[in-house]
Amino acid sequence: MSILIQGEKLFKSYRMPTTVVHVLCGADLTVSDGQTVAVVGKSGAGKSTLLHVLGTLDRPEKGRVLIDGQDLYALPARMRTRFRSSRLGFVFQSYHLLPEMDVLENVMLPAMARRGFLLAVPASRRRALDLLGAVGLKDRADHMPFELSGGEQQRVALARALMNDPEIVLADEPTGNLDMTTGGQILEILFELTRQRGHALVMVTHNEEIASRCDRVLLLKDGLLLDG
Ligand code: ADP
Repeated sequence: MSILIQGEKLFKSYRMPTTVVHVLCGADLTVSDGQTVAVVGKSGAGKSTLLHVLGTLDRPEKGRVLIDGQDLYALPARMRTRFRSSRLGFVFQSYHLLPEMDVLENVMLPAMARRGFLLAVPASRRRALDLLGAVGLKDRADHMPFELSGGEQQRVALARALMNDPEIVLADEPTGNLDMTTGGQILEILFELTRQRGHALVMVTHNEEIASRCDRVLLLKDGLLLDG
């Protein structure tokens, strides 16, 4: 397996008027093609911050994020955005569906950000419907997000994360807002779809049982990542 993502000596702190919170203090990680990695740690340890830094949503103060050897924060902003929308998929704890778009449009959203989308509308629609089928929601394509339960909204978010066939899915407590049964179903779908398609998965969780289902578990502690 070749290395897909590398985080090298990542530093990130938040500066407040009177204090500085040091969150990442030289964190290193590598993720290989198709690997599933859980990041665990106490609340406030910096797990979400790490995921945002890896996902090019929040620039580190020091250190590099390389995907396929490409230094993402060295890219011009527009190329970084293109890279993010074509090669990364995101799943958040609170779904983040757009309330004014229906389910199908929400799933198609990452494709809309791509160049040449207008020419590719029919193919994108087919792919979005296939993904909705894969998460068991094909018959809800024209529903609005508020008409769905939390678990159903998260299934839409999973389909959306996979829309552009990303190499890496970054998931931040994807079952954190759900009851155990529904959360378990979401995890099954997430693991099955990422493994089936060979996507790497980096998942933040505070649940050790969930973490143990990943190929590797990393503990974020004192701003560093340790093999768990
Ligand atoms: P975790 O996901 O492990 O719970 P976070 O990455 O959300 O941790 O937060 C790590 C630390 O950074 C916490 O102490 C949090 O309060 C602080 N923090 C996170 N985001 C900000 C921000 N935008 N401004 C100031 N402090 C922040």
